[in-house]
Amino acid sequence: MSDPNEPNSSLLGQARKLQAILESAVDAIITIDGQGAITTVNPAAARLFGYEQSEFLGRNVHFLMPEPYHSEHDGYIHNYRSTGRRKIIGIGREVTGRRRDGTLFPMHLAVSEFEMDGRAHFTGIIHDLSDRKATEMALRHAQKMEAMGQLTGGIAHDFNNLLTVIIGNLEMLESKLTSPSQRELTTEALEAADLGARLTTRLLAFARRSHLEPESVNLNSFVVGLTDMLHRTLGATIYLSNALTPNLWSARVDPSQVESAIVNLAVNARDAMPDGGRLLIETGNAAIDAEMSGRLDGLPPGDYVRLSVSDTGTGMSHAVRERAFEPFFTTKGQGRGTGLGLSMIYGFAKQSGGLAMIDSTGDKGTTVTIYLPRYRVEPPRAAEDGDAEVTAPGAGQTILAVEDDDRLRKLTVSRLTQLGYVVLSAASGAEALERLATSQGVDLLFTDVVMPGGMSGYELRLQARALYPHMPVLLTSGYAEELAGNRTAHEDLKVLRKPYRLAELAAAIADALKL
Ligand code: ADP
Ligand code: MG
Repeated sequence: MSDPNEPNSSLLGQARKLQAILESAVDAIITIDGQGAITTVNPAAARLFGYEQSEFLGRNVHFLMPEPYHSEHDGYIHNYRSTGRRKIIGIGREVTGRRRDGTLFPMHLAVSEFEMDGRAHFTGIIHDLSDRKATEMALRHAQKMEAMGQLTGGIAHDFNNLLTVIIGNLEMLESKLTSPSQRELTTEALEAADLGARLTTRLLAFARRSHLEPESVNLNSFVVGLTDMLHRTLGATIYLSNALTPNLWSARVDPSQVESAIVNLAVNARDAMPDGGRLLIETGNAAIDAEMSGRLDGLPPGDYVRLSVSDTGTGMSHAVRERAFEPFFTTKGQGRGTGLGLSMIYGFAKQSGGLAMIDSTGDKGTTVTIYLPRYRVEPPRAAEDGDAEVTAPGAGQTILAVEDDDRLRKLTVSRLTQLGYVVLSAASGAEALERLATSQGVDLLFTDVVMPGGMSGYELRLQARALYPHMPVLLTSGYAEELAGNRTAHEDLKVLRKPYRLAELAAAIADALKL
């Protein structure tokens, strides 16, 4: 039994208490003497820095710090002892620590001072900031990608409107030209405009605003279907193999996007292996739980179909990997890379409810993995109604065309007139409703989706339907369903994607009028 009046036993109790605190502390605690030599260290410090506890004792604490802290530290202590100026005491600071294996990590250091046997000693409490910094970085990266998406999407949207005007006017001009050499000029201009349209499609993919036409697909069949083509593209020095999981789950995605994703990844792999190498395309089922979700950029837990493309090429440096998904980021020379391959894949995966990830370390090659949500319910097969005819000329029906862009509206009116329809037009949702209320015989509402003035094409459609429940509505948009949340509510929507050729307009209008 210890006697509380005996000073030694209470000292012992104090020591035990401190010991217990040291042992159980989550943060690293180190004490040093006035010369910087370590006198106490707790298990958390041993875990954090990767040394045995006994290896700390007696060593100068600066071995746990990289330069410049390493050299500065002795100066701090000396400075403090000779001038009393508290450069390090009592102020928590963010500094860098060095582990046994040489790796560095961010840490928060709080230093305090105490006296023992007439000499100054110091304690340092060290909190590892690695996780917090990583989360901050990931957040910043996500915010940057989001901002780039907004910007890219906006530009692509405006471009689509311009291209629609260019294509439409060229087509009208084409029909008025008489000599073959004149027509050749417009044909070339039209081809260039089509190329431009393909470019904006890729930008919209990054901005997650593509108009996706998802179907239930089995990724294995895509890989198999593309194999011949890939063999030709990759050349003889690259050995292509597949590792496909039987009983692969279905995914509901836009097939053309999957195809271009695989081709883009294969081409990137080829570029990374100028002297040949191996390319592996894998598929698999992935059940993502909460723990994996953390490592996968917060991909919501659930069932996913995984597609990965691995190469034995040059790999990516940390800096390249950080930026590889950005649109226009390329390390390839002029005319060789557009920097749109991976950005498109990134946007496509995100928009499909999945994720794209890069795994690449120095010279070990690269693996790009796409996760796409599993699709369980097989969609009901649509009744086959035979091959729809491409164009059906109008028979004098009245169409109300709503478009906020003046040039585009003018063009739309002339194109529809050319197709044989009677055309009314409006520049906003409000104006369209006014026209609908005053004119009886509108057979079809043809409206842009994204319009300023507070009423989108979707809302206009709902309000028009309230007036005329059976009026067919055709929407047109250069964007995706940014109102993605509304998607299910609008399953039966008819959307014509911008930019469109006259033949596409004719077919879409005829189709919408059939209802
Ligand atoms: P591009 O191929 O036109 O340069 P991408 O968006 O497809 O554009 O790729 C961006 C960059 O990412 C490439 O320029 C290259 O530096 C890097 N990269 C992509 N795939 C690989 C790969 N498989 N191996 C090494 N680096 C790659
Ligand atoms: Mg590429």
